[in-house]
Order: sequence, then C-alpha cells, then structure tokens
Amino acid sequence: QSFKRINEVEGKVQAFLTLDEERARAKAKALDDKLALGEGKGLLFGMPIGIKDNIVTKNLRTTCASKILENFDPIYDATVMGKLHEAETVTIGKLNMDEFAMGSSNENSHYQVTRNPWNLDTVPGGSSGGSAASVAAGEVLFSLGSDTGGSIRQPASYCGVVGMKPTYGLVSRYGLVAFASSLDQIGPITRTVEDNAYLLQAIAGHDSMDSTSANVDIPDYVSKLSGDVKGLKIAVPKEYLGEGVSQEVRQSVLEALKVLGKLGAEWEEVSLPHSKYALATYYLLSSSEASANLARFDGVRYGYRTQDAQNLIDMYKKTRAEGFGEEVKRRIMLGTFALSSGYYDAYYKKAQKVRHLIKKDFDEIFKDYDVVIGPTAPTPAFRVGEKIDDPLTMYANDILTIPVNLAGVPGISVPCGFAGGLPLGLQIIGNHYDESTVYRVAHAFE
Ligand code: GLN
Repeated sequence: QSFKRINEVEGKVQAFLTLDEERARAKAKALDDKLALGEGKGLLFGMPIGIKDNIVTKNLRTTCASKILENFDPIYDATVMGKLHEAETVTIGKLNMDEFAMGSSNENSHYQVTRNPWNLDTVPGGSSGGSAASVAAGEVLFSLGSDTGGSIRQPASYCGVVGMKPTYGLVSRYGLVAFASSLDQIGPITRTVEDNAYLLQAIAGHDSMDSTSANVDIPDYVSKLSGDVKGLKIAVPKEYLGEGVSQEVRQSVLEALKVLGKLGAEWEEVSLPHSKYALATYYLLSSSEASANLARFDGVRYGYRTQDAQNLIDMYKKTRAEGFGEEVKRRIMLGTFALSSGYYDAYYKKAQKVRHLIKKDFDEIFKDYDVVIGPTAPTPAFRVGEKIDDPLTMYANDILTIPVNLAGVPGISVPCGFAGGLPLGLQIIGNHYDESTVYRVAHAFE
C-alpha cells in the first residue's frame, strides 16, 4: 500500500532519501506468516513507518542529508529502531531533512528539496520536512523526526499533521546523530493524536546507552485520551500572539481557545518574560554544541573523504570544506567562536544562565496552569527560495518553538485551520513528563 502511494506521489513530494522496499516487503511477509501461526501482535503490528535520516539504521544508508555521510551504512541500530522492531512496524525508508537537522525548510539538504504536499511551491518546514511531508502525502502512516529547536513541530504545522517533541530524556537519543545534545529529542509524527500517542508509547523509556535518558514510568498515553478537559487551566503567553505573528495565525489560536472553552477549559493570558532572549540563546548554545559534535566528521571515521590531500591536516580541512554545506559551516564557525577562550564566559556561559531563566518562566507557569497554548509557527509555510538567502529571517521563524527545547518540556503541534489553502498548527506545551495532559488536550481539540 505504502509503495503504491509512493510511486504515485514521490516524484513530486521527494520526501525520501532512501527507500528500503525489498526488506520492507520481506518484513511484512514475515509478520503475516507469524500471524498465520496464531502468534500475538506487537503494539504497531504491520504499520508502515518512515525514519528521519539522522537516526541510524543498521545496514541502511544514513546520510543526515549531508555529503559527508553520502555512503554511510551504520553498523548498529538506534535504540528507537529496536523498540519499533518490538512493536512490529515496517520501515519503508529514510526521510529527507535539513543537513544535520540545521534549518527550517529542508532547503539545506545536500540531496533534494522536499515539497509541501498541500502546495508544491511551498516548503514542508524543517528540519524534519521529509518526515512531515511523507505522512501528509499518505506515503507512510507514521514517521519519526527529531526536534532540537522546533524541527518536529514546525514541519508538522506546515504540513497539517500531528508532531510531538517529548520531554527531554523521555526517548533515548542513542543512535540519533547529535546536533545539540542538550536539546535534541526524537519524537513521532502522525495523522492523528491517537496514532501519535501509540507511537510515543512504543519508543519512550529508559535506556542505559543514553546517559541523559530518564528513568521514569511511561504511562498508558492512549487510555488517557478521554476527551475531557473540563476545569483544565490554560496559559496563553502574550509573547506568543504578539509582533511577527500573522493575523490569520493569531485568529486560528483564538478560535481554538474558544473550542476548548466550550469544552469546559479556562484560559488566561500570562507572560514568559525571558522568551525574547530565546532565539539568541538557542542559536548560541546549539551552535556551540554542534561545533563539538561535528568534530567527529574528519574523513577518517565515516563517510566522505577528499580525493586530493597533501598530508593529514590538509585531508581534514579539504574533507570538511567539501563535505559540509553552507549552513553547517556557518554554525560550526559560530559555535567554535563562542567556545573559544576569552569569549566562553561572555557568550556560552551567559547563554547558559539565560537558558535557566527561560526554564524558570515555564516552571512558574506550571505551578498554576496545566498547559501553555500558542501557535507553532508565526506564519503558514513559506515559498521555496523565499528565505534561503537570509539566515536571520530563517532563524526568526523558530521563535515559538525554541523556548520549549531550552526548558526541556514537551510540546505538540496539532492542525488548527488553514490560511490561503495552507495548514496552521496549534502548539500545546506541558510540564516535564506530562505528555498525557498534552495529548488529552490535543485529542479533545482535534
Ligand atoms: N530550525 C532550527 C535550527 O535550524 C531547529 C532545528 C531542529 O530542531 N533540529 O536549528
């Protein structure tokens, strides 16, 4: 079914970097055989799933949409892949993204620009653009993305699907190619909230292979989708409906709040006073971490190596100069500068302090409220090419998703209307490890 649909639409959408048809068919057959023998079914038995190409998959090319990992076939599976195997999903292939997850439009992929299925002239968002577009186009039922500063929620919003960034530490990062380790989190992208809860159920849980993995009980998310939000307290930060947010987006959030109000929830305006510093803090910290994480791509250990080098140092330099794209180089330079001696205290350390204040803003709000609600992105999907020459405008697009990563709390994007034929997303943010409440609100609204 999946491959039939892929044949029909993939030429236009271009969501996949690698398709794994032969193995997918063999796996589906093996599952059928198992069923015929009367054995039990896994949680997601037979469900076709696509995987963002920064999650390592054993013997299945994993490029991070970078030239530097052009022919990289990992020798092990990420922990989430093992969990999907237990749940009995069928992996269809690997999905396009911005190179090393740096970007908001998929235009930073070395290979291709995925298109938004709702309007092929617009971007699908990023960096998990392939993950969101493939679900929206019906090529797969589920996909996995990763979210460091909005990369699951923003593309979900642009493509009209449901995308969850779980609490930092809820899903193992073992086998997720690191961009900014203190912010990265894997999460599910699906058509419905219920599907999303099922997929998170399958991939969440403690993992001794990831030292930042949380040892917490995983509740039964699906059983908590009661539709009941009576008496629930919603905080709406005034910073999330202010300057830069388009009129249609603001209107769609107010409409959503009306719906939730009718269902018995109450909302009030609040303030996240430090959110104005979130963008600067995020780009400084994430680039610093990226500059350290990406040091491992040196032409020796994996992937691409330059053809003409005079000596070892020359080989390192040329490999990296030829292998990384523009945006990745920009972040490595920014991060290396921020971490260099003499600047560390002024930039990196200061950004860490501001990050703490941003987290405290959320802690204060969750003392009195159950969820925080706002838009996922300031506008609907923009046109391919519209922002690519202006990195700062592209960065500014992440203003509403980034505070959530800095605070480490969970956030979901659910479809909440259209503007000019393009979907809009509502962002629902919860307290640490309170994915259940986030899902409950999203489900009641859906
Ligand atoms: N767009 C943001 C960035 O470019 C977020 C990326 C992400 O969440 N991986 O860094």
